[in-house]
Amino acid sequence: MSKPTNTRITTPLTRRSVLRGLGAASVAATTPRWARAQNRSDVIVIGAGLSGLGAALMLQDAGVNVQVIEGRNRIGGRIESFRHIPGNPEAGGTAFGPGYARLVEAAKKHGAPLIDITPMTPYFFQRQLIIDDEFIANADWAEHPRNPFPAAARKTMPWMYLPMLLARANPLQSSEAWRAPAHADLDVSLHEFLHRIEQSDDTIDIAYNMSPQWARSAHGVSALMALSAHYFANIQRTLTTGNPIKGYTAVGGNQSIPEAMAGSLRNEVRLNQPVIGIRSDSTGAEVHCADGTIYRAGRVICSLPCSVLRRIRIEPRFTGLQARAVDMLDSQVINQVHIVAKKPFWEEDGMSANMYTNSMCGTVVAEHKGDDPADITSLTAWIRGHRAAWMDQVDDSVGIAAVIADIERLRPAAKGLLEVAAYKSWYRDPFASGDWAVWRPGQISKFATSVAAPHARVHFCGEHTAVSNRGMEGAMESGERAAFEVLDTI
Ligand SMILES: Cc1cc2nc3c(=O)[nH]c(=O)nc-3n(C[C@H](O)[C@H](O)[C@H](O)COP(=O)(O)OP(=O)(O)OC[C@H]3O[C@@H](n4cnc5c(N)ncnc54)[C@H](O)[C@@H]3O)c2cc1C
Repeated sequence: MSKPTNTRITTPLTRRSVLRGLGAASVAATTPRWARAQNRSDVIVIGAGLSGLGAALMLQDAGVNVQVIEGRNRIGGRIESFRHIPGNPEAGGTAFGPGYARLVEAAKKHGAPLIDITPMTPYFFQRQLIIDDEFIANADWAEHPRNPFPAAARKTMPWMYLPMLLARANPLQSSEAWRAPAHADLDVSLHEFLHRIEQSDDTIDIAYNMSPQWARSAHGVSALMALSAHYFANIQRTLTTGNPIKGYTAVGGNQSIPEAMAGSLRNEVRLNQPVIGIRSDSTGAEVHCADGTIYRAGRVICSLPCSVLRRIRIEPRFTGLQARAVDMLDSQVINQVHIVAKKPFWEEDGMSANMYTNSMCGTVVAEHKGDDPADITSLTAWIRGHRAAWMDQVDDSVGIAAVIADIERLRPAAKGLLEVAAYKSWYRDPFASGDWAVWRPGQISKFATSVAAPHARVHFCGEHTAVSNRGMEGAMESGERAAFEVLDTI
């Protein structure tokens, strides 16, 4: 890489003045033509997902000249709405509650109208449980021989068991507690933690490993990660108590939110700019893209997940715990097959279209995204754990065929009626290399506080760097923090 040219941040704003001025009319002028031609700005933000866009908008509001560059040909990152399928089902960030204050506010402020999904939520929980090909009616579960749960919880369906257990038995009592040294003893596998609180292997298999949210099984994820996510979910439930609205998506799909945010940027996001290197020294920073374009600025905010960041050349190199974090923090494998049914086969066989299985098709979700909440607009098979890992090793067509064959085997009425409308492997997506971050046992106490430390002129945001929130709201929180870090350098 060539040496960076001299650049400096010229905006005389401080963190305090930003806090005073946020929401007020911007003081920045549009980027001068000469600066655009030289790809020069005060701050470069890498990645047009929620965290990068949130950071960029905050800086813009503070009068900073900021340029967002994005590797894909679209805005949104891990928010991706399939608009060619009826109802615009989500491949990424799926739904959020009124407690996602930053996200809801961003949607309002930048003009992305929201849909209240409360009328659709009851349908989501009408699931057909299928274990080892046996269809088990919800009413029969309590007495079923495959039910491993203790007497007091035998009526609890598998997908509700851990949320209920961890609502009662969560040692974390604040949003930040998962990173506190006092809880380092919980940085063991979720499996080990559940054993400690007297859960059997069979219970863990049915309640977690059937559809693992992190890693391939409870052995692969830190208990602290699961506990903090359940703490966050509980807080979200508390925040909606008394609120008639339980959840949202956006009109046109959730991707409309980052698109609206990008639309509020004065400097248009540069798409198709995959970053391959970031270099910084005492004079400035350079961002190198695959097509040879070089962007220059005083500061860089990088929103890439570690699974992607570790393939990019960073000068100076990461050192110490941060180097280990970037190298080792993985992202969840998760695959989806989006299906449009030519006829409602569920009406023919009389069972719910939603299926919760331990076979190849994983969890099948009936999407209710039409005008009538009862209407099923498409089906999404969510494949996780070892089945997703297998799909990532074979050709797309082989993996998709296995999922369709499984649904047709379980539901003969569906035979010949399933049209595959889209397939998404988040691991195979080169701009994500997986879904949300998975902190493995031992990693949180080792390097959770190091992963997002500013490095030379580079600051980091992204869902994996959030402290108090998760998912889309976590991404927004992290962008805010990174923007403040940059403003503190001015
Ligand atoms: C299947 C799925 C379901 C989900 N469901 C929910 C949910 O229901 N609720 C919830 O809150 N959250 C959910 N999430 C999580 C949520 O979508 C993410 O946490 C959030 O969107 C992450 O935003 P981010 O800005 O941190 O990262 P990203 O959106 O990944 O942003 C990073 C950006 O960097 C770009 N980029 C990557 N590499 C390069 C490169 N080399 N050069 C230039 N640009 C690059 C990417 O294209 C991307 O635009 C889900 C995610 C997935 C995948």
